[in-house]
Amino acid sequence: MEKSDDTMSKTDDQWRRELPPERYHVLREAGTERPFTGALLHNEQTGVYTCGACGNELFRSSEKFDSGSGWPSFCDPIAASAVTLLDDDSLGTRRTEVRCARCGSHLGHVFDDGPQPTGQRYCMNSLALDFQKRS
Ligand SMILES: [Zn+2]
Repeated sequence: MEKSDDTMSKTDDQWRRELPPERYHVLREAGTERPFTGALLHNEQTGVYTCGACGNELFRSSEKFDSGSGWPSFCDPIAASAVTLLDDDSLGTRRTEVRCARCGSHLGHVFDDGPQPTGQRYCMNSLALDFQKRS
């Protein structure tokens, strides 16, 4: 997959061609993977989690924790500017959607029941993320 800086200008057709169907569904149609199915759920290696669509750096392994929810969970993004937060009322309840700030792809939701000191729980789809191992 080509990962360039002009990802913002990609059309829906381009995304559909470049992403595997299951990733397209999560990233571009705001789908949710089934819990406890994600390849990165129990990944405990040291590194950086990036956007599965454009490669934008999103989370560090040091901010990952086991929330028991069945989705990879983080207490803080790598930088506030890495993600965009949006109100999501789609399930009849107010949630906060998390999108990649660079390409606008859907990543998951953030809740305020995470561990201290941030109190945040970024509940991410494993399909929306890639992992780069770093020492
Ligand atoms: Zn992205």
